[in-house]
Order: sequence, then C-alpha cells, then structure tokens
Amino acid sequence: MGTIRSETPTHIFLVCFPAQGHINPMLRLGKHLASKGLLVTFSTTEDYGNKMRKATGIVDNKTSPVGNGFIRFEFFDDGLPDPEDPRRTQLDFYIPLLEKVGKELVTGMINKHGEQGGVRVSCLVNNPFIPWVCDVATELGIPCATLWIQSCAVFSAYYHYNAGAVAFPTEAEPDLDVQLPSMPLLKHDEIPSFLHPFAPFRILGMAILGQFKKLSKSSYVLMDTIQELEPETIEEMSKVCIVKPVGPLFKIPEANNTTIRGDLMKADDCLDWLSSKPPASVVYISFGSIVYLKQEQVDEIAHGLLSSGISFLWVLRPPRKAAGFDMHVLPEGFLDKVGDNGKLVQWSPQEKVLAHPSLACFLTHCGWNSSVEALTLGVPVVTFPQWGDQVTNAKYLVDVFGVGLRLCRGEAENRLVLRDEIEKCLLEAMVGEKAVELKQNALRWKKVAEEAVAEGGSSQRNLQDFLDEIARTCIA
Ligand code: UDP
Repeated sequence: MGTIRSETPTHIFLVCFPAQGHINPMLRLGKHLASKGLLVTFSTTEDYGNKMRKATGIVDNKTSPVGNGFIRFEFFDDGLPDPEDPRRTQLDFYIPLLEKVGKELVTGMINKHGEQGGVRVSCLVNNPFIPWVCDVATELGIPCATLWIQSCAVFSAYYHYNAGAVAFPTEAEPDLDVQLPSMPLLKHDEIPSFLHPFAPFRILGMAILGQFKKLSKSSYVLMDTIQELEPETIEEMSKVCIVKPVGPLFKIPEANNTTIRGDLMKADDCLDWLSSKPPASVVYISFGSIVYLKQEQVDEIAHGLLSSGISFLWVLRPPRKAAGFDMHVLPEGFLDKVGDNGKLVQWSPQEKVLAHPSLACFLTHCGWNSSVEALTLGVPVVTFPQWGDQVTNAKYLVDVFGVGLRLCRGEAENRLVLRDEIEKCLLEAMVGEKAVELKQNALRWKKVAEEAVAEGGSSQRNLQDFLDEIARTCIA
C-alpha cells in the first residue's frame, strides 16, 4: 500500500466533539493517517484534553512518531473555565457555546500553523455535533472531510429527515413508522430518537442535521462501518455524497500499534479475573460513557444477575459530577453474595474484554462503537438501548445482523426492565439453540471485519482512496 512522504509532512487537523464515543473513532483514524506519513493534529476541548492527560498521559504540543508520520494534541477552551461547570451537560446551552467559541479558536489555531516555522494545515476533519468546523474550512479555503461515527443506516435517517423526502413521526402523528430506501421498516421508536418530536436531547438532532445542511462542504464522508455490513444503504447514500466506509477503525492495525489512547478514565484491572473464568462463561455489562440508569434499574440488573448465577463483569461508571446524578448503590449484601462470581469496575479496557475468550455475551446500551466492537469481535449481544442512535443500532443488531436479543426498546418505553426478564434474556443468549445461532452470526461478522481491514480489504482501500485524495488536493 502506498504512503505519503515529503520533506514537510502534509498536516491534517482533526476537530472532535468532546465525548468518548466521538474521541475513540476519531483518534483511531488520526493514528492511521499518521502511520501513513502525515502529521496529524488531534484537537478537542481543553476540558476533555485535561481528562485525557490524566487518564492516558498524553502531552500537548509534543509531536509523537506513529509509523511513518506523527501525531500531536492541541486543545481549545470551551468558554467555561470551571471543570465542573454544570452547563456542559445543558446541551441547549453548550452546543451553541461550543460553536461560538470553537469557531474562533480553531480558526486561530489553524492560522497559527500557517505562520513561519509551522506546518500549514492542508485538510480539516470533523465529526458529528460540530458541523461548524466545515465553515471554518470553507472560510480558510482548506478542504474538509467528515468522519461519521454512527452507522450508515443512521446517516440515511438524518439525510432523509433533512431532505424532507420521507415522512417521520410528528407531534400529530408520533407513532408513524418510517420507510427509508433500501432499509427495513423502522418503527417510530427505532429511528434515531433525536429525530422524534417527543424525545429528549433534540438539540443533538439539530446539531447533527446541521452537518447535513453542510454536506456539500465535506469532500469525503468517512464512516466507521463496513461496506459488507450495510451494502444497500451505503450504495443509496453514495448517490448523494462520497461515502467511504473505513471501519471498524479499532481493528485497523496501523491505528493500534501505539499506546496513544483517548480514554476519559484509566481502565481498571479485570483481565486476570476474566482469565480465571472458563471459556464463554462471562457476561460483560456496560452502558458506555454517557447513559445514566435510574437507581431502580440498577437494582433490577443486580437482582437479575444474582438469581441467574451467571458470572459477570459490570462497568458501573461514577456519574459526572457536573451532571448532578447520584452514585449508584448496589443492593445490600450484593457483593458478598456474588463473591468471585462477579466483578465491578468503573471503566474497562473494553476492546480487550470483548476479545477475551472467557466472554459469552455483552449486555449493551448499543452505542455504535460498542455495537461495532462486539459485532466484529464475534460477541453476541443483549440489547438495552436508551436514546439517540442506540435504538436504531439495537434494531439492526437483533433483526438485521442477527447477533442479539432485545431486552428493551429504549427510554421512550418508560418502563423498568425487570429482574426476571434480564435473567431469562441473558440465559437465552448464552445457552441453547438461539445462543448458538447468535454466536455463529457474530463469528461471521468478525470474519467480514477482519477481511475489510486486511491489506486489499474494502476499508483499507477506502482509507487509501482518502490518502490519495489528500495527496491530490493538498499542497504540503
Ligand atoms: N468503553 C471503554 N470502557 C468502558 C466502557 C466503554 O473503553 O468501560 C469504550 C468503548 O470501547 C467504546 C466507547 O467507550 O469505544 C463508548 O462508545 P459508544 O459509542 O459505545 O457509547 P457512548 O459512550 O458514546 O454512549
């Protein structure tokens, strides 16, 4: 595979929304581009950068070698000096603030690189929630690409909503089902919930739709999905923009030959404990980096696990102080009753956990990163979505990819998922005919992913196309 080499490396500037599910795929892309000979600057907010410094030891403005190129980090203030400012979780306030301050600061950072002694920025890459980065690129006359970090099915939902070509639920007709081209019928609670008139966090839907209003400003839309996973939808969307599936980015070898990571928190040790368990015997439970379950729901999960007797590794993340949520409490005597049969951690090395032979299945909130990681590591799932694209991902994991059992439909259901349901569903995903079918399907997707990221595979070819495009359009 060709690489880009020149005296002064071509400089790509990545701007990332400050959330774990955005940082992980963007940093993986950054590391890949660096490994191919580019200079990559990875940028997000100072607040998030501070957490990354503490958790992973990264250092600002230090250029670190990655393969044939380099990566560096540079952060920008989000206008809120207090790290615990609760307004960061008030998205109606925070998303517009980020645009206002980010636009000016990112423009300043890029201009600074063009000054004497710096390496001029040749291309910007953004991800959802911060479409204004495309405006910065246009104003500076620099090409811009977008890394779409959700599925192509979800991309299609936003695209068609924005285009107004397909009927979506409205206040008058909230239960309307949605038929998108080349996709299975989505029930009203299976569309990305931010597009539903009664869902919370509508501002995030608005921010994402902002990206679609600027679609023509992005030369390429790179996607953390696989050609073979969503062929019809990718073909459909390729009619409206240049779609390049490059996933699963976490499996791209060049992106992982380095210790540089973007975790919010240090992962707890749990791999030795996992290794002490028999093969395919443990359920892994995680709700990602944002979802906060009600205390009563945590109680039901705990009781369901206890009565099932299944070994488990459970990520019970402490809530963000700024969000004002309480720490969860486990039922009295829970840990004593569980003994060595279960392990609780605050944050796990998830990719290593999912790849571990002791793992049997994953009870997941169905964030796209978690979904792809499970799917392509051959791990069946029990789906427990809440909102956003999680509800669409759950539909696909269960009905399209055939690797999951559905435990609930999402926050819109507004119900407690009871301990008996949890126990029954976990057991069904682990033992018996259905469990075998799910595992076989998951292993099939694992193989598809391995082929996509191998030399000559679909994702590698698309990444090379992007590198060629950079070489063609950017003057180093
Ligand atoms: N993750 C992790 N350790 C954990 C929980 C999650 O490393 O204990 C990672 C996980 O591998 C994934 C990301 O955090 O890459 C979560 O992204 P996802 O899209 O699944 O969910 P979000 O946090 O955006 O809701």
